[in-house]
Amino acid sequence: MENYSPKNKCLKVTVRGAVQGVGFRPFVFRLASELGLNGWVNNSPMGVFIEVEGEASRLESFIERLRAEKPPLASIQSLESSYIDRRGYMKFEVRPSDEAGPKSTLVMTDIAVCDDCLREMNDPRDRRYRYPFINCTNCGPRYSIIEALPYDRPNTTMRLFPMCDRCRAEYENPADRRFHAQPIACPECGPHLEQWNAAGEILATHENALRLTVEAIEDGRIVAIKGLGGFHLVVDAANEEAVKRLRRRKNREEKPFALMYKSWEKAAEDCEISSAEKRLLLSPESPIVLLKKRPSPANPIVCESAAPNNPYLGEMLPYTPLHHLLMQKLDRPIVATSGNLSDEPICID
Ligand SMILES: [Zn+2]
Ligand SMILES: [Zn+2]
Repeated sequence: MENYSPKNKCLKVTVRGAVQGVGFRPFVFRLASELGLNGWVNNSPMGVFIEVEGEASRLESFIERLRAEKPPLASIQSLESSYIDRRGYMKFEVRPSDEAGPKSTLVMTDIAVCDDCLREMNDPRDRRYRYPFINCTNCGPRYSIIEALPYDRPNTTMRLFPMCDRCRAEYENPADRRFHAQPIACPECGPHLEQWNAAGEILATHENALRLTVEAIEDGRIVAIKGLGGFHLVVDAANEEAVKRLRRRKNREEKPFALMYKSWEKAAEDCEISSAEKRLLLSPESPIVLLKKRPSPANPIVCESAAPNNPYLGEMLPYTPLHHLLMQKLDRPIVATSGNLSDEPICID
């Protein structure tokens, strides 16, 4: 950091837009540190506030780079800056959030698990190996865990899971890719998988719960899956009888169900996928994409009841780590429709 100099100027910056839960504060911290600027950044219900102090030319490039190099998922609606009296800051810090004021910040939607987290989840040497709730600053639940603004752990459902020492060290380390990742968790301190029956009894936990859930889907049963956010009813998309049962359960006669495929290559076996549609399927928002059925697929897998009399299928790819773990074990697509039952981690009919 730069030493205090009487020639330094101090800039107050207010950023509004989708800037919470996208790694914006860690980004500001790194940028200020790189430019040798002192001051602080915090979150408030009204946006992200920054005060930076240093040489005027560096402050200018700070503002320029704030816009140009913002995290990929952040979107800046407005950025206001004005010079204020020098404060004499000696370092740059991320300050606790300010709860006061009207709420006007946009909150991000949930973000599909990123490649770095997937790599860790599939690495037997990693401490989050096969952990279904792995996430980082660039991915994971946002909207579905927020109970109040600003977006900070105490305002999310993750407050029920106090961080272990190792997670806290990552959370507090500006160089770590989980610096200020609000839903940070690991097998030691975070939520785990449980399989419940309809009576609410726990049948299995952890890997056993996952294995039994895969078996239940293969058996044609309807499974309710609740992750950190969202709630899905899931059934084997190849099983006509099971999909019909789900239709009766949901009271939904004709409307097509959304399908989840293991990969876009698998999805392409049933539907035609353009390069734009592929990009959409693989995007961080992981939407359901409407795709044209192939006239005569090599091995039609999806049963007619999934989308009766419809030339299109609504397809999506796994977007939570739990989806990935499930789909790794299943050799077929599943119907995944939003559920509206009670608050159960995993239950089977
Ligand atoms: Zn990630
Ligand atoms: Zn932990």
